[in-house]
Amino acid sequence: MTPYDRPDAPRRRGDVAALGHRLQDLDGASYRSYKGLTGVWSGEDGYDLEIRTVQADPFAPPSRLRVTVPARTAGLPTGLYDGPVRARALAGFLARALRRALEGSTLRVDAGGQEVLDRSAARIRPDGTVVAELSVPLPGRGRRIDGRAAAAAVTVVLPRAVLGALRWETADTAAAQEFVETVEDAGALRDALAGRGLVGFVADGAVLPRLSGVDDRPLAGGVPFVSPPELRVTLDVPHRGTVTGMGVPEGVTLIVGGGYHGKSTLLRALESGVYDHVPGDGREFVVARADTVSVRAEDERSVQRVDVSAFVTGLPSGNPTDDFSTESASGSTSQAAATVEALEAGAGVLLIDEDTAATNAMIRDDRMRALIPAEPLVPFVERVRPLHRGHGVSTVLVMGGSGEYLDRADTVVLLQDYTASEVTGRAREIAGRADEAGDTAFPAFARREFDPRSVDASVRGRRRVTARGRGRLTFGADDIDLSAIAQLADPGQTTGVGCALAALDLRGVTLAQALDRLEEAVRREGPDAITRGAPVDVAVPRRHEVAAALNRLRPARVTHLHRNGQI
Ligand code: ADP
Ligand code: MG
Repeated sequence: MTPYDRPDAPRRRGDVAALGHRLQDLDGASYRSYKGLTGVWSGEDGYDLEIRTVQADPFAPPSRLRVTVPARTAGLPTGLYDGPVRARALAGFLARALRRALEGSTLRVDAGGQEVLDRSAARIRPDGTVVAELSVPLPGRGRRIDGRAAAAAVTVVLPRAVLGALRWETADTAAAQEFVETVEDAGALRDALAGRGLVGFVADGAVLPRLSGVDDRPLAGGVPFVSPPELRVTLDVPHRGTVTGMGVPEGVTLIVGGGYHGKSTLLRALESGVYDHVPGDGREFVVARADTVSVRAEDERSVQRVDVSAFVTGLPSGNPTDDFSTESASGSTSQAAATVEALEAGAGVLLIDEDTAATNAMIRDDRMRALIPAEPLVPFVERVRPLHRGHGVSTVLVMGGSGEYLDRADTVVLLQDYTASEVTGRAREIAGRADEAGDTAFPAFARREFDPRSVDASVRGRRRVTARGRGRLTFGADDIDLSAIAQLADPGQTTGVGCALAALDLRGVTLAQALDRLEEAVRREGPDAITRGAPVDVAVPRRHEVAAALNRLRPARVTHLHRNGQI
């Protein structure tokens, strides 16, 4: 049990007005006196304000609050939150409305960015109760309580924002409706992919480029997407009726084109298409199958007993390639490991960009074959078709610098001046018939079982899971570098990955089985399944990112390799 698993309900205190008076009285008292205020305070109209944790001093991480608005006060229409998709969407809308209402104050709600994820910051229970989690640095003057400022923040600013943003009566109901419908339509598009033999979809009119490398909002003046007629499909959605755009077929899809013509931007939009987006994002109707995983090279990462024999047949170090470990992988071996790890965690679609791939992991041309006959690497080009033919795993890849994949691709999309056209026929003319002579079946690889004791989130008995931005996670005594994990949406999801990893029950099962169980628990309980009641802001991660973190946790140890499975 973590310290947060206590089943007893928090203590009920007076009303919020009384809390205000208490705070005024505490003005000038020692900062530690804030501690005496934990518990539940009742607000007007029946909402509860719980002070969950109080920081020990003004410089510690902010204090944590929870606001519970009963269904009769929130007054949300049932039709906008029944079912997990609508509940996530409407909660996402409310969290953003609350964040806007709190702008200019010191109160924070982790409402997220362009993606609409299942977050601990705002949830709607099946009965219509709204629960919001906030943080606030309780104000102090040195080590003394600033009671007036605290009373203003907690008993004036917060109630006003809560009652303004979390009640249907005062909400922007048209925007809420649009938000929920947009998310639901995106989900319907994603669900429709498999039945149409597609792995991805890019709607006509979508705006794919982002404002900048550090700002995920849409680029103003971005050229809207237009689907090539040969790949144009129309899909049914519940609210807009139909959406037309480019279907990315199963199999091998190659995105080609000159430099700076929008290839990577298209791939990144698909990468992000595993998530739903807020209205106005530009990628609302760009979707990818939920099991789509970006793979890249990441030299110097550690690898724990991964069976990379599909891609590496022998190493000068003598390391066995069907049981490969290293503290510092090369570009090509890191990409091989990442590919096998993605498949192990259940990826059905792989995304690869030449910009972040190791060239020798991708291709080998005739000159190099002649010069170096003993190359131990099997380039991905020889595996990409068997992976689909034998195992149903599709690949979408960006490759502008080499024609090696032209004869392996089922579909070739050319980007020129941000405009897509279908050039599969021309690619075939140039490359001739597929030369698959060297392509052997993609072999089964070993499934790993981890030592649960080697995955420890605690330091001297205390749990420590902290995201440092999106790409770095402190997990127990270790730092996990997640900067190469492209499909992590935001720091809250990185925290979610850490909590999920801490909650993962690895005892006696393979990693894939442990991830199955985790997913099942999240389906039942939502973010609580990974936070276990801890007062932290998380967004629910996918299984793939949880696996990616475990795969990069250096002390993690694999105890068994199971070699009987399929891929
Ligand atoms: P490539 O991978 O083909 O070299 P990128 O996808 O990196 O090209 O895009 C190059 C630049 O063009 C980026 O700054 C990107 O934001 C911008 N860009 C991409 N697509 C569009 C578009 N549809 N409209 C306007 N700018 C775009
Ligand atoms: Mg590029």
